[in-house]
Amino acid sequence: MTAFTREHLLGLEGLSLEELMALIDTASSFREISERDIKKVPTLRGKTVVSLFYEPSTRTRTSFEIAAKRLSADFVSISASVSSATKGETLLDTARNIAAMRPDCLIMRHSAAGAAHFLAQRVPCPIVNAGDGAHEHPTQALLDLLTIRDHVGRLDGLDVAIVGDILHSRVTRSNVHALKLLGARIRLVGPPTLLPAEAAAWGEVCYDIRSGVRNADVIMMLRIQRERQGRNFFPTLEEYSRYFCLTRSVLQEARPGVVVLHPGPINRGIEIASDVADGPDSLIMDQVTNGVAVRMAVLYLLAGGVDDEAAA
Ligand code: ASP
Repeated sequence: MTAFTREHLLGLEGLSLEELMALIDTASSFREISERDIKKVPTLRGKTVVSLFYEPSTRTRTSFEIAAKRLSADFVSISASVSSATKGETLLDTARNIAAMRPDCLIMRHSAAGAAHFLAQRVPCPIVNAGDGAHEHPTQALLDLLTIRDHVGRLDGLDVAIVGDILHSRVTRSNVHALKLLGARIRLVGPPTLLPAEAAAWGEVCYDIRSGVRNADVIMMLRIQRERQGRNFFPTLEEYSRYFCLTRSVLQEARPGVVVLHPGPINRGIEIASDVADGPDSLIMDQVTNGVAVRMAVLYLLAGGVDDEAAA
């Protein structure tokens, strides 16, 4: 029935449109569970999900944990700062040891691009990439698309402006793969130092935020990823925000009905003004709510869930 039968979710690159829509539609069908009084179904009862995070996370890790628990899976969370990584154990050894305990799914975040792919080839367990360096963050892009579909009413043929630190953004890369499949017109907006050469192949490159968001249906704002910047890409944060902060005045350039997304964490007053982040066009909290449904869908599809009725 479902068009998504892969063993791992490592990225959105290379997925077919059918696979992408199967993920989004499955997520949509899981949403009502989170609106119930008793937010739990037996779908993943008896399954074990482990998260292994080598980078900080608030939303993504919590969202995976809530998703797993709403599906009745057992959830074990390991953060590298308190794991044997601090004693010199390699990523592969850590993952092999976890896999030897027979989890049904391993969710991982790492600062190195390709880390999830590396493990997927070596560890006998479904792997979900929860962010690998500046490479991909597939569940973030899926929740972005689900949120856009809810509010704009469609996913095809959208004008999407992605604004900010494109160079270091795994959120951008995952979204670009999906948006291209959906026929979006993409604009990549930021200072030249934060726009990689490959951006020209993803869409139209723009160095000015006002023209960048002009007539957009969707604006995706990005955080300045200081933790990935080994050098200065712009003179000061004040100067960056003067040119690239999404303010109410800049927002006027977009189409009526424009929606504003941000993957979080937001830096108020730097890439997005508070009154925009908290304003009527902002879908930031809807993104977080949809994140749980997306992760429920991904765990269900990868960890071999059974339908409610069969498990009850
Ligand atoms: N939370 C997103 C990520 O992990 C975006 C960000 O950190 O700015 O990539």
